[in-house]
Amino acid sequence: MHQSGHSRAHSMHDVQFSALRAMTPRARGVIALKEENCTSCMLCARECPDWCIYIEAHKEKRPPRREGGKPRTVNALERFDIDYALCMYCGICVEVCPFDALFWSPEFEYSEVRIADLLHDKEKLGEWMEGVPEPQALEAGAVKKK
Ligand code: SF4
Ligand code: SF4
Repeated sequence: MHQSGHSRAHSMHDVQFSALRAMTPRARGVIALKEENCTSCMLCARECPDWCIYIEAHKEKRPPRREGGKPRTVNALERFDIDYALCMYCGICVEVCPFDALFWSPEFEYSEVRIADLLHDKEKLGEWMEGVPEPQALEAGAVKKK
C-alpha cells in the first residue's frame, strides 16, 4: 500500500514516542509531591538553583503524642508550587528532601498553550504521584533505612 511521506513520518514518530514511554520508567518527566510527608522545611526551595519552588505554610497546634505530654507545633502546608516554565529538571529538590516527599514521575505530557499554566500547585503535584514507580530493590548487602 502506498504511504505518503507525511504519514510515513507520522507513524515513525508514533513508534519512537511509544518506545520512549515504554523504555524509561524512571525518566525525569515531572516531580510529584507526597504532601503528607512534607514538613514545609523549605530545604528544596532554598536549594533549587532556579528558585522555582514556592512554599507557604503556617504553624498549627496538634495534640500531644503521649497522654500528659505537651501539645505539638507543626507546619501546615498552604502552598507548594513548582514552576515548570523555569525548572531545569536537575533533581536537586528530590535529592535534598529529607522526608521523602518529592519523587520523579516519568509522565512528560503536560505542555500548555499558556506559559502560566506550567505552574503546578500541590494538588496537581500530588496527582503526579500516581505515575511514580515503586522503589528499586535494594542491592545485596544494603541496610534498609529504619
Ligand atoms: S528539578 Fe531542579 S530546577 Fe526543578 S524544581 Fe527541582 S531543584 Fe528546582
Ligand atoms: S518537599 Fe521535602 S524538602 Fe521540600 S519543604 Fe517538603 S519536606 Fe522540605
